[in-house]
Amino acid sequence: MAMMVRITIAHRNELIALAAADPDEICGLLLGAGDQIMRLVPCRNVAGDRAVRFEIDPGALIAAHRVARNGGAQVIGHYHSHPSGVARPSPRDAADSAPDGSIWLIVAGEAVTAWRAVADGGVHGRFDPLVLDVSGCADSGDSPQGRNAIPPR
Ligand SMILES: [Zn+2]
Repeated sequence: MAMMVRITIAHRNELIALAAADPDEICGLLLGAGDQIMRLVPCRNVAGDRAVRFEIDPGALIAAHRVARNGGAQVIGHYHSHPSGVARPSPRDAADSAPDGSIWLIVAGEAVTAWRAVADGGVHGRFDPLVLDVSGCADSGDSPQGRNAIPPR
């Protein structure tokens, strides 16, 4: 499987803004194809204690998979935030995850990191780090090179 996932600057900035606007954990789905994130779908966090965990609204998940079956973008993973933590999977994330190869994006402050949920990952036995390749000339007048790969921690 690819060791890289691609996201546009606009989507990365949107994730940072969504996370900054909410004291609780935010979450949503990543739609795309292969290693390319094409759309963010913010979802309700239906966890009991949203300050420290997340659970994507199951209705939104079902709807996204239905769209995917009908030829839309695939659900390739999801994102969530760590409002007072670091952009790294927590032991709770590992406990709540399935080794399904999906992409996890984690937002903490200005940091966005990418991981893949696997059966024998290097982090908590569940997650392998992915390089998040940020590209595109969005609205922000970013650096001339236009690419800004963030190495995993
Ligand atoms: Zn988490």
